[in-house]
Amino acid sequence: MTASQDLGLIGLGVMGQNLALNIADHGFSLAVFNRTVATAQAFAAAAEPGQKIQAAAELKALVAALKRPRAVITMLPAGAATDEALDALAALLEPGDVLIDCGNALYADTMRRERALTARGLGFVGAGVSGGEEGARHGPSIMAGGSADAVARIAPVFEAIAAKAEGAACYAHVGPDGAGHFVKMLHNGIEYADMQLIAETYDLMRRVLGLDHGAMQAAFAQWNRGELDSYLIEITAAVLGRIDPETGAPLVEQILDRAGQKGTGGWAVAAALELGVAAPTIAAAVEARTLSAIKAERERAAKLLSGPAPALADGAGLALDDLAEALLLAKIGAYAQGFAVIDAAGRRHGWTLDRARIAAIWRAGCIIRARLLGQIMAAYERAPDLVNLMLDPAFAARIGRGQGAWRRVVAAAVGHGVPAPGLGSALAYYDSYRAARLPANLIQAQRDFFGAHTYERIDRPGSVHTDWTS
Ligand code: NDP
Repeated sequence: MTASQDLGLIGLGVMGQNLALNIADHGFSLAVFNRTVATAQAFAAAAEPGQKIQAAAELKALVAALKRPRAVITMLPAGAATDEALDALAALLEPGDVLIDCGNALYADTMRRERALTARGLGFVGAGVSGGEEGARHGPSIMAGGSADAVARIAPVFEAIAAKAEGAACYAHVGPDGAGHFVKMLHNGIEYADMQLIAETYDLMRRVLGLDHGAMQAAFAQWNRGELDSYLIEITAAVLGRIDPETGAPLVEQILDRAGQKGTGGWAVAAALELGVAAPTIAAAVEARTLSAIKAERERAAKLLSGPAPALADGAGLALDDLAEALLLAKIGAYAQGFAVIDAAGRRHGWTLDRARIAAIWRAGCIIRARLLGQIMAAYERAPDLVNLMLDPAFAARIGRGQGAWRRVVAAAVGHGVPAPGLGSALAYYDSYRAARLPANLIQAQRDFFGAHTYERIDRPGSVHTDWTS
């Protein structure tokens, strides 16, 4: 092979193959490598005329095929597989070459890798790529982190292949080293929350309002034409309308209620905890998946543990519109949490994260794309230093208008024993956030009682200890 290819790409799984085709469709030539070499060969052989894709049987051949400065994308499982590939590549590359990790790496790993690779004179970009298979193929949302020089090497490719929202590429260089993967991690955390909120809404439609699948599909389809307009609502309507050809029943009811997770949601929660930022709805969504996974245990518990009757013929006084309100407002709460975590990470790591820009590049291509993101973008454009999204006057007013419905929904869920940890946690977040006084005074008294941890008084500065047992 001569050194003729624009880019290298390693890891031809679902994402790697689709990203490679997208890149090739935009006129960039590629050398590709995969652990299972036959996969790379078959992939290159299947390329369409005009798609310039060469397979390499080994990494050395891949590197030899690239124009300088070389740029190699890795699209591999996070962790050891990515480390091994980066180490092997680094040994073959030269100063000035750039490695771009487009997998879902933990941002701390990206920071570590960036330090190690830049020390060797190599550029390193950690880029979060969202949109699943379809996004990778036809236009993902891309969040890149790295030095300006390193990112500049790959930016034209990212600009070209990213989804477009109102004509602008859904790609941003969000900050240095781990910033791209951090923002992608929070994107996934918000995605977990959004999916959980929708799932709870479906559960309430079914078990409290007693709707059938046709009615539920119609409701989601209608919501998708209004404020809730989003990819996840759209696919939910499609899912609810799908009939299982084997049984003739709605397919969704034939699916085992055990949700998988690959880890990014949990990482987002761990990062929030570590930064000291509350993200209860993202945490609730991760925990709901964790509880869903213990199916056998839940089945045993279902026989032993009692609860109220789940459904009422009158729908517990709930209207379908109430559910739409609750879903929207809880979703605003989840976004407020996610952006608060991003803001804190920016301050911790010295990253200047432009939240308006982040909202802008989430408007298309990614899984959480939603009409709401345009409003979030506008809120951060109005006030780049906004402490919490719920403090934006437009959002504050919107929550104020809908909160009655939100409270009715959460009350109905609790009253009928239908778990709604996402909707409920977001409401508790809102109520906690807007409380000028919380019962933490009592917690401080207890801490001082058993541990002499001291407390502060409301009427003068300083730490005080009381001998509570005297
Ligand atoms: P797949 O499981 O489809 O593909 C994994 C790829 O990595 C395959 O090419 C596989 O090679 C290779 N691989 C696996 N283990 C190793 C190893 N130890 N050493 C070398 N190569 C290895 O994964 P995806 O394409 O779904 O995901 C790739 C990355 O993209 C991950 O980081 C994922 O989190 C991220 N991502 C995935 C999204 C999705 O929707 N799927 C969305 C956004 C990001 P082989 O063919 O030999 O098995």
